[in-house]
Parts: sequence; C-alpha cells; structure tokens
Amino acid sequence: MEKKAEAAMEKEIKELVSLLSLEEKIAMIHGAGLFRTAGVERLGIPDLKMSDGPMGVRNEFQNEEWITIGNSDDYVTYLPSNSALAATWNRQLAYETGKVLGEEARGRGKDMILAPGINIKRSPLCGRNFEYMSEDPYLTGEMAVPLIQGIQTADEAACVKHFALNSQETERFWVNVAVSERALREIYLPAFKKAVEEGNAYSLMGAYNQYKNEHCCESKELLNGILRTEWGYDGVVVSDWGGVHKTKEAAESGLDIEMSVENNFDEYCMASPLKAAVEAGEIQETLLDTKVEHILKLMFRLHMLGDEERKTGCYNTTEHREKTLAAARESVILLKNEAGMLPMSPKKIRRLLVIGDNASRVHSNGGGSAEIKALYEISPLMGIKKRLGGNTQVDYVQGYFVHDLENVGGDVNWQANSLENGGGSITAAGEDEEIIRRQVALRHEAVERAADSSYDAVIFIGGQNHQQDTEGHDRPDMRLPYAQDELIRELLGVCPDLMVIMVSGSAVEMPWLSEVKSLVWHWYAGMEGGTALAEVLFGDVNPSGRLPESFPITHMDCPAHCVGEFPGDKNVRYDEGIKYTVYSEGIYVGYRYYDTKKKKVLFPFGYGLSYTEFTFSDMVIMGNYPEIKVCVDVTNTGSRSGQEIVQLYVGKKDSTVERAEKELKAFEKISLEPGQTKTVVLTLDEEAFNYYNEEKHAFDVESGEYQIYIGKSVENICLEGKCTI
Ligand code: BGC
Repeated sequence: MEKKAEAAMEKEIKELVSLLSLEEKIAMIHGAGLFRTAGVERLGIPDLKMSDGPMGVRNEFQNEEWITIGNSDDYVTYLPSNSALAATWNRQLAYETGKVLGEEARGRGKDMILAPGINIKRSPLCGRNFEYMSEDPYLTGEMAVPLIQGIQTADEAACVKHFALNSQETERFWVNVAVSERALREIYLPAFKKAVEEGNAYSLMGAYNQYKNEHCCESKELLNGILRTEWGYDGVVVSDWGGVHKTKEAAESGLDIEMSVENNFDEYCMASPLKAAVEAGEIQETLLDTKVEHILKLMFRLHMLGDEERKTGCYNTTEHREKTLAAARESVILLKNEAGMLPMSPKKIRRLLVIGDNASRVHSNGGGSAEIKALYEISPLMGIKKRLGGNTQVDYVQGYFVHDLENVGGDVNWQANSLENGGGSITAAGEDEEIIRRQVALRHEAVERAADSSYDAVIFIGGQNHQQDTEGHDRPDMRLPYAQDELIRELLGVCPDLMVIMVSGSAVEMPWLSEVKSLVWHWYAGMEGGTALAEVLFGDVNPSGRLPESFPITHMDCPAHCVGEFPGDKNVRYDEGIKYTVYSEGIYVGYRYYDTKKKKVLFPFGYGLSYTEFTFSDMVIMGNYPEIKVCVDVTNTGSRSGQEIVQLYVGKKDSTVERAEKELKAFEKISLEPGQTKTVVLTLDEEAFNYYNEEKHAFDVESGEYQIYIGKSVENICLEGKCTI
C-alpha cells in the first residue's frame, strides 16, 4: 500500500475505534461462533469468518455446534498436504497452490483460511507432520512465503500456524517446551519470521503449548517481545481453538482474537471476564483498542472495508484441479529403482495385481482440522486403472485390514470434545484377536494372488492413513501399522519384483528395504494424487520430488528421541505442575544431527531419484559477503527430460562455535531436456552464514573460511568450494 493510502487507512481506523463502545470492542476480539467473530453493524464493520484448513476449505459447520450443515455446496478442491508440497521443492507450485486455496476460501465466503501449518518436524512421530513442511527452517520458509502470497492474492488472509514450538500432539494444551535460545532462533522461528516479513502474512495463530511457563497464545515473550516488537508485526494474532487460559495475560499479550471449540462464547476469557476487568479498572481499555486496530487493518487489507472492490474468489474450477495435479506430480518421490524397473511400459502390462488398503482408500476426510469434503479424490487404484484403460486387467486385493478410522465420520465432529482429552496422546496400536484373524486372512489371500506368475506386475500400496497421521495423536513408534511388514516380507517371498508404494505423511520403518527393488513415496497428495502417481509409475511424468525431511531407520535414531525428549513424560499431567519437554538436541534437528554425527539414515534429507541422470560441474563462487553468488552447471546426461534440484549447503569446518556439519541455504529446481546444460545461479546473503549468539542475544557472523557444498541430497555432495568472509 502507498504511504498516503496507508496514512489515510490508519486515520480511518483510529476514527472507527474511537466510535466503538467497550461492548463492541469485546465482541470483535472473541469468537461469536465456532469460526466467526462479531462485527459492528451500525458502523459497517463485518463479521470475520474463518475456516480450516491447509488442504482445502473445510466443510461448513453450524455456528454453535460441531455439526456439519450437510449441504452439497461445501465440497471443494482437495490440495496436496504441506508435506507433499514441500517435497516438490518448487516455489512456483507453492504460490499456485496458495492461490487456489485463497480463491476457494474467498469463493466460500471466508476471510481467513487457517493455513499454512509451518511447525518444524522435530520427530517423525508427530501426528501432524503431514500438515507441516520440513525439519529444515530454510526449506519451510522458502515454501511458506510463496504459499502465503498466493493465498493473499485472493483478498483472503493466510493464518500461519502454530506460533510456536508446536512440534508434538501429546499433551499439546499443556506441554511446556524447554528449548535453548539458539535453537529457538535458528530452527523453530526463522520460517515464521520469513512468513511475516517476506510473506507479509495478514494473520498468525498462536500455539496450544507453553514456552517459558506461558501459553503461547498469551506469551509476552513470543507475541509481544519477538513478534510485535522485534519483527514489527501489525497483523492479527488469533488463538488456537481453546488456547487461551487467562484473561489478564491474554489481554496484555499480543493476541487479538480468542477462539475456542466451546460455544459458551460469552464466557471466553476475552469476553465477559475481560469486560468486567476493564470496567473494574484492572485492565486498560487501550489494550483492546490495539487489538481492534489490528482487526480493522486486516479488514482494510482484505478490502472488507474501504472503497476498493473485494475479489469474489471461486471454487471447484477446472483450473484449480489442474493446479492440484501439477503440484501432486512433483511431490512423488522415487526412492529406489534397481534394474530400472520403473517406469513400467503400459503396453506391456496386460494383467496387473494391486495389493494394499491404501491403493483404494481416500484420505481427504480425515486428519483432524485438516479434513475436508473433497469434490472427488482419485485413489491410486483409480489413477492406475484410469491410466491403463480397458485393455489391461487390474485386479485388487486389500492385503491388510484397517479397523475403524477414529476421527472420521460421525454426526458430531471430534473437535467438540477435543479440549477434554488432555489435548493429545500417544495412540497405541492395540489389536485384538478378531483384528489379527482378519489381518491373517487378508494376508494369505494377497500372498496367494501375488504368487500367480501370470501377472505382468504386482504393486503393493500401503503406508499410513489418518489414523496415524492425525491431529491430537502422536505415534508410539515408526513401525508400519496393520502388520504390513509381515505382509510385505511374505509378498516378496513369492514375488521378488514386487513394487512398493508408501502413502504416508511421515516416515516409517522399512525393515524389508534391502529386499525391495523399487520403492515410491507418495503423500496425501490431493484430489488428483492417484492420477499423478500413475503418471509417474507409467513414465508420463519423470519423478522430481525430494525428501523434505530425513527418514531415520527407527525413531530412536532421531535426535528428539535419543538426545532430547519426545513427547516428554506422558504419565504426568502437565497442568498439575510445570512439566517440560526438553529439546536437549538443541540445533541438531533432523539432518543437522544425522549428518554431523555421521549417523546412518534410511534416506537422507533432499534425497530422490529421477528416470534420467544429472551431473553438476563448473562451480564458480563470486562476489563478496554479504552477497555471494554461486554458479553451477547442471547437465541432463540421460535420455529423458526431467527436473533436478540443485541444493546448496554451507558449513564451517574450523568454526569456533558449535555448528551442524552443513545447512541448506539455497536451492533451485530446473527442467532439462536430454543432453541439455543450464547454469544455475544461487545467491547467499548474511543469513547463509550467521548463527545465533546467545551471549549477545543476536545473530552473529564468524569471519574466516566457509565450505560451499552443492549436492543432490545432504549426503550426496557433488561439488565443494570455499569462500572467505
Ligand atoms: C487446531 C488448529 C485449527 C483449529 C480450528 C485446532 O484444533 O490446532 O490447527 O485451525 O483447531 O479448527
């Protein structure tokens, strides 16, 4: 906005605030519905309407009950989850995906879409990892910024969540995160900072958990100190639903709007209790003015107020579906492809056997608040059949038994009672005799079918679903559910060429990995996910996804578990005293740990194969700090066109401060025809070299020599150079 227009807006906001009664201000700063705050009709201030979530606009609920309205007008475009999007490493796709989400939310009449979730994946066990992007703050920030910008082009506010340190579900309402200042600044906050400063996110959601004994939604340190004062944030801060506990603390913090899952709206901390406290002179009314100013500013930014015509948005358009397909295609990761088994030639496949519940399962209706009513969802099985057509016989068997999906379906949504269960727990995969009996029966059937040598190919499509990848629960370990390990082993026994496809939102153990020749990773990739997967399997699309997180061998290799604590002591009620989950691993999160400590992983951060080959050469490092440019030539030496991601990591071997061996500081994705060479130019600024100095309470840069690594993953470094600061 131009300076003049900004000044006029500020003036108008001040005038509006001066006209508001205490009651009207109170109405604007707390929920008046499960997804709505009240406006002030006499002054033309509209209600503020919100909706989840990250993979599409959630179904419509009644204003005061967690009961879905049930009309047919809230089916929507189902977008790839953030984990899938991050795996594309494609900023443009993030922007386009954001644009779709923003337009759909606006089309459904919403003002604020509660997305994206950008918490750091500290442990593979976190139930909401599928909603988050990466273990790496740089990759998270780089993908979040265009996503937010895309959303906001539609006159829709992105609501970046959950600020901050919300990396587990267990005891999420109470867990008090103890983390070093350095890890906070280097790992857990940078993506939020970028979202605010570069993404210009109009709103942000506080997290449920505590930091330094304050709930994040009322945290003076996080909201007032860091967000408002240091980063100068003037957007709207919304609480997570039920994340506010104390009236005075909330009023005095940088929070603007209190939301909850309960319908006693008048009793919210920032409703009647706040009004009474202001009237009693215990809380200054000017604190409320600031909150209302933020809300009004958001309304001007979205053209809900002011003279400019607001965009209308639209949903379920052909263009939106095409864009979800484009993102889904690039999210598929080829993890193993011995003997070039993939891609399959469709003409050679006359009889195909597909095994596994995830081949036929749809996922859009689960996961917690990220659930949606997808207009449709192409399952992998449908994608495959649709690609092959009627001349191929595709047989399907379920292979493993999936018992009730808890969070899915039912009249009253699970969220109605979400505050009562302590706010999250570990789900143990309890299996009774009947379940085991069915498991065994399905396994026998599948193994028998897979032994039939008349099939031209046999594909297993398993992994997880939203029973594991879900809000409110963490997993007890990384093992595949539903006895899939036994099934895969037995299938390999009769069919050594079995192709394995894992559909999942977070890493799983793969004890059978060495026996499998081809392995594909597929996320919750949106309504066209099955189409994209089939296109990769049959070679219409060359896979270009790369892991946005490390896949450890077991969760006990993960630093959050073997050095730090996850999820903390689950037997202790956090509200009975101050109990912490200690992030003792500090800055050594994800690959920063495995790479530095030389710990073997299943697949490293940044890893992914292609049907073609790329070579990197001729690295040139130019310029002077604080702007250094690194040029690299990339050549497609194979026989197919494809996309490669040039990953740049920075390290400092002689560092006097503790550092990770290397850290991702730049990347670029490019397309190359066979034989073609392109020069990629990557820019490094101050942030590529600095670290957080806890003594100075500020970022600092050591002088001296730094290593510049160009690689295809954090483990596969192809070129190494140096620069001096
Ligand atoms: C979740 C948020 C979500 C909110 C509203 C909470 O349970 O943590 O991510 O946006 O509910 O549904």
